[in-house]
Amino acid sequence: MKIIIIGGGVLGSSLYRLLRDRGHEVTAIDARKRKIYPTLIHSLLLKGNDVKLAKRTLELYDRFNVRTREFPAYTISDKLGNLTSLWQEVGVKVERKYVEWLSTEATITHGSDRLVWIGNFIRSTPVYPTEAKIKLDGRKASVELDGKIKEADAVVLAAGAWNSELFPSLKSKPYFCWSAAVSGRRELDSNFVYDYEIGFYSRPLLGMGLPFAIVGDGDTIECKPGEKVNIDPSTLLEKASARLGKLVQFHLGWGHCEGTPDMRPSFGRVGDNLFYIGGLDGYGAEIGPALAEMLMNYILDGEENKEYMVDRFQQFKGSFSLGREPHELP
Ligand SMILES: Cc1cc2nc3c(=O)[nH]c(=O)nc-3n(C[C@H](O)[C@H](O)[C@H](O)COP(=O)(O)OP(=O)(O)OC[C@H]3O[C@@H](n4cnc5c(N)ncnc54)[C@H](O)[C@@H]3O)c2cc1C
Repeated sequence: MKIIIIGGGVLGSSLYRLLRDRGHEVTAIDARKRKIYPTLIHSLLLKGNDVKLAKRTLELYDRFNVRTREFPAYTISDKLGNLTSLWQEVGVKVERKYVEWLSTEATITHGSDRLVWIGNFIRSTPVYPTEAKIKLDGRKASVELDGKIKEADAVVLAAGAWNSELFPSLKSKPYFCWSAAVSGRRELDSNFVYDYEIGFYSRPLLGMGLPFAIVGDGDTIECKPGEKVNIDPSTLLEKASARLGKLVQFHLGWGHCEGTPDMRPSFGRVGDNLFYIGGLDGYGAEIGPALAEMLMNYILDGEENKEYMVDRFQQFKGSFSLGREPHELP
């Protein structure tokens, strides 16, 4: 098959490799509209079937030779219920105890959390570096590239926050999210902290033993893709400092994500030869590659997975507001 993928982020890059491995003629197009960060979080500490997708994603990172590095995680919440047994089923070691440096009791997990060197993965995908447009003839899609029309057996829309600009009838919305790079105590660069009591997360910056971390709170701010929102990080810094000790911010990272009405990812057919994958709601590095594999199995073999398919929004009419990112726990 001849397949064109619009977007070469984590989804486009994964799909490109998976389809090439199955012997198809694949072209990925990426206008490089968003900043590529060197590392992102991969966590198995998710809910429901997302846990299995995150586990499968790790296997795919191995296959794609993507570097990952594991660190312990400290989750502060007394509402985890049976989530811990779900995590144990995929090999995570769980203990609960008082943690001196956090001055609180936490659920400590080993084997659950990693930094993924996603930047190298994305940059090593050969992309046609220009802006693409979708042309529709009835329900049949082709792609306009530098003023020329390219035909394909399948066109895949994997343009993240830009998806709904390219194909406005999609039930998805762009939003702005951000995080702050901080310096503070030494433990920061070798541990993940998810504090659901105060409401923030902290992850190692590079895991090199330096006293640096990235903190955020999973806040979603609706805006046009590419538009910068002015942020005041002081409330987040105050919250995180209350648990982690004094933090000094030295950088603000930001970018655009894509949310769906139920804040869950989706994939499926949206035209005769037009497919969509997206809605990664802030956890693309955690489940994106496994979702890309599901789309490939759907395109090539007709395999369905109702829980994640875009058809679930068919009955959905009108506008919607964005909820909490789905990697956030109770
Ligand atoms: C500050 C911040 C921190 C984050 N931290 C994490 C984290 O730690 N872990 C995690 O899992 N997730 C994290 N995320 C979320 C993660 O970045 C997204 O879930 C993920 O990037 C979505 O992948 P994607 O492939 O769907 O889209 P994207 O990565 O956005 O890729 C879409 C691509 O499409 C291209 N494009 C758009 N329009 C066109 C066009 N018309 N023609 C050609 N190309 C086009 C863009 O240039 C872009 O490269 C974070 C996001 C932000 C903003």
